[in-house]
Amino acid sequence: MKIIIIIFIGLVGMVLGSFYACMGYRIPNKISLTKPNSFCENCKKEIKWYMNIPVFSYLFLKGKCAYCKSKIDPLSFIVEILTSLLFVIFYLRFGLSINFFLGIVLTSVLGVTIISDFRYYYISDRVVVLALLFILILIYVEKDYFFVKIISAFVVSILILIIKLIGDKVFKRESLGWGDIKLLFIISLASGFYSTLISLIIACSTTLVYYYLSKHEEKEIPFGPFLLIGALIVLFVAPNYSIF
Ligand SMILES: [Zn+2]
Repeated sequence: MKIIIIIFIGLVGMVLGSFYACMGYRIPNKISLTKPNSFCENCKKEIKWYMNIPVFSYLFLKGKCAYCKSKIDPLSFIVEILTSLLFVIFYLRFGLSINFFLGIVLTSVLGVTIISDFRYYYISDRVVVLALLFILILIYVEKDYFFVKIISAFVVSILILIIKLIGDKVFKRESLGWGDIKLLFIISLASGFYSTLISLIIACSTTLVYYYLSKHEEKEIPFGPFLLIGALIVLFVAPNYSIF
């Protein structure tokens, strides 16, 4: 029975991952999420449903558009695989508990943000607000320290905001984007003060590694996906909420 649930969760992850990748492209480009149907970014031809099956179509088409043979962005393939994998990993770790659903919400934000932040340096407010609502419902259902968690999230965010403002002055450029601050707010609401701090440290270190691996070519490094990866690692390893 368990294996059926795992396969089901994995498939849901693939389908949602495909949708998140689509959101990641469409929201920054101000294209509706429902219309038009999926199309090739190069030749604009509509992609038939059987060429639009998450993960498998990319492999079958060898990462190229069926019509014009232009390259399909491998990031969308990565998002489909990653979403599916993380859904399964969090199910195996927590079963169908609150922590599993927190993992699902953060993974979902990560899926959209990987595309929108890497490709367009954009973190969608709509996605953050939606995640905020889901996290509020989850911590409300959990019952423990509901209001304390909200106050703690504000305190953490204000602290980070102060660090950002100082950083902006010292480095004479934007040290942390506003999108990153909003992400940190939902992360601290989900996991508390210490976990947010550790997420931040993981995010900074992985960003540095990415910076060196990318040979300093990019002048602006997207920080949002690294923050969410940090938060997911902390949630997986140390799921207990830490009160400020
Ligand atoms: Zn094409």
